[in-house]
Amino acid sequence: MTIEEQRRYHISHLSVMHKIPIVDRAFVLKQIERGCCPMETAFAVTHYKTGYMPCFSDVTKRYVFMNDCDLGEEVPYFICLHEFGHIVKAKDSPMWKKWVSGETMQPEDELQSEEQAWEWAISQALEVTPLMREKMHWALKSYRDYIAVMRKQLDRKVYENTVSTLERGSCSVPVVENSIGEGSVPASKNGES
Ligand SMILES: [Zn+2]
Repeated sequence: MTIEEQRRYHISHLSVMHKIPIVDRAFVLKQIERGCCPMETAFAVTHYKTGYMPCFSDVTKRYVFMNDCDLGEEVPYFICLHEFGHIVKAKDSPMWKKWVSGETMQPEDELQSEEQAWEWAISQALEVTPLMREKMHWALKSYRDYIAVMRKQLDRKVYENTVSTLERGSCSVPVVENSIGEGSVPASKNGES
């Protein structure tokens, strides 16, 4: 068996073992029609029809979408493992725990879920090539950049709320509630791995 065949076989084995189907484009297009897909995801899927992106995992409905690509190739193979990782490790992720308990999610929680899914991919991969590592670092960096922006915006929002609720001359400390993440479902960042 060639390495490509081994990877394809490995993916289908994990898909059966963990009961995580890999859905095709037609399935996702139907989801979009029904309004079951977040806008960002819908846009990415309808826009980019070739190449290994976009791809994503749905941790509540337990399926993975991989764009039309060969899962025997090193990068799509590794990304698919990562998407499986999101589902297999979902209940250990801070996002899931906070979602269940109703606690406020923080942008940093998403990064932790990403790292967790990559760790799982590494633990499962038949081999981790330099190109796979490179793609993983690229993906993690894009999350770190995104989270840094989110954190800045959040901190500014909290500061502005604090200032606006302070009465002139008052020495009382206002309670600032952070509502970010309320009601959102833990899932991987749309359209990205
Ligand atoms: Zn991910």
